[in-house]
Amino acid sequence: MTWQNWAGTASADPARRSWPRSTEEIGHAITAAAKEGLTVRALGSGHSFTPAAATSGVALDLSGWTGVVSADLDSALVTVRSGTTIKELNATLDTLGLAMANLGDIDAQTVSGAISTGTHGTGAGLGGIATQVVGLELVLADGSVVSCSADENPDLFSAARVSVGALGVLSTVTLQCVPAFTLAADERPMGLDEVLARFGEFAAGNDHFEFYWFPYGKNALVKRNNRINGADGPDAMPGWRRFFEYEVMENAAFGALCRTGRAVPATIKPLNRLAAATLSKRTYSAPSHEVFVTPRRVRFVESEYAVPRESLLDVLAELRAGVTGLADPVMFPVEVRVAAADDVWLSTAYGRDSAYVAIHQYVGLPYADYFRLFESIATSVGGRPHWGKMHTRDAAYLRSAYPRFADFLRVRDSLDPSRRFANPYLQQVFGD
Ligand SMILES: Cc1cc2nc3c(=O)[nH]c(=O)nc-3n(C[C@H](O)[C@H](O)[C@H](O)COP(=O)(O)OP(=O)(O)OC[C@H]3O[C@@H](n4cnc5c(N)ncnc54)[C@H](O)[C@@H]3O)c2cc1C
Repeated sequence: MTWQNWAGTASADPARRSWPRSTEEIGHAITAAAKEGLTVRALGSGHSFTPAAATSGVALDLSGWTGVVSADLDSALVTVRSGTTIKELNATLDTLGLAMANLGDIDAQTVSGAISTGTHGTGAGLGGIATQVVGLELVLADGSVVSCSADENPDLFSAARVSVGALGVLSTVTLQCVPAFTLAADERPMGLDEVLARFGEFAAGNDHFEFYWFPYGKNALVKRNNRINGADGPDAMPGWRRFFEYEVMENAAFGALCRTGRAVPATIKPLNRLAAATLSKRTYSAPSHEVFVTPRRVRFVESEYAVPRESLLDVLAELRAGVTGLADPVMFPVEVRVAAADDVWLSTAYGRDSAYVAIHQYVGLPYADYFRLFESIATSVGGRPHWGKMHTRDAAYLRSAYPRFADFLRVRDSLDPSRRFANPYLQQVFGD
């Protein structure tokens, strides 16, 4: 059965699928594939825009390998099976009085898919999901099982937290969670020039700061989410309003605008300005994961680069100037987020405080020139592409962008010399 990703940008015809339901079964699936000379890829939820999970060999579907293995309420350490989705994880953590310190903006991904590509949210003092991992269990090319953490096999731990599935199949992931917390959300339109002038202040002064900018509009939507103690913050958002704001305005109404723009491209710029002009303010309090996560029902394609934080304003200035000259107009907003430097070898924020710039286009609209323009701007400042979002970088470029790239390849060579876990995307980004 053909496999396809969420955005429709990648598909593959695996020789067969296998549904392991234990660590042993993952090992058996790998050794059985080896006997037939087939490669192996683990499938997450298919939410990468890159063909990271695509395989013509054996596709390991881990949707039957889910749930919490153990949870320690004192240390807030929680071990989950690798096929667990972030949605399931959040629901379980809720019942335990725990939460993830930071998350991206959807919850459909599997925990292992998310960490394998360096999925992140926003917060100048916080890292992506892989930085919240404190232990991993990995099934290797020969079917054996190895564990790693900061104390046990530390090089493997540095390499395996973000590995695009190149080292083996993650079986379990141990997460450092935190006590459940409430976020006060403040979302409001603001002139883009003001947002850029106050970027450093906003990034430093909020737990989670990000903004969206429609390329032809003057306004940005600024989102600032901060931790509060119980009753201190704004009221919760009533269910009907949440439905209206997120389902009707951000999905149904925006989806209708996008369809109009796709049918009549001449309307895209005015519609884009209309979308920017009608942004409205909302403030509310909610459990952290309800604030981090929003529904994304309008399909799009995306590229995202992490750039050194100090380069962000130059990158946006160039993008702003370049986008006006594109033959094909852009329907979707640009999203800007921040993260703290971390120590995960292939994390896009490795060793430097980073700003993330994500560009999008509505599915079915031309995007190649826009993405090429953006990539040339982002790479001119040493930008690192998100492993799960569209880019054209190869191993030669990535070697220059990641100080520990050679160390990662060394670990890969020692664990998977016969390239059991290879696919064309890994060949592009890691070389042979
Ligand atoms: C609507 C939407 C919103 C998004 N929002 C964000 C966001 O806010 N922040 C962000 O950073 N990214 C975001 N992304 C990107 C997304 O988080 C990543 O691409 C993520 O990898 C998807 O997880 P998945 O479970 O779908 O994994 P897949 O895309 O299915 O797989 C990703 C990689 O992980 C590997 N993998 C999966 N499971 C295992 C395993 N058990 N062992 C070893 N390797 C494994 C796969 O082989 C593949 O290489 C978004 C994507 C979409 C479509």
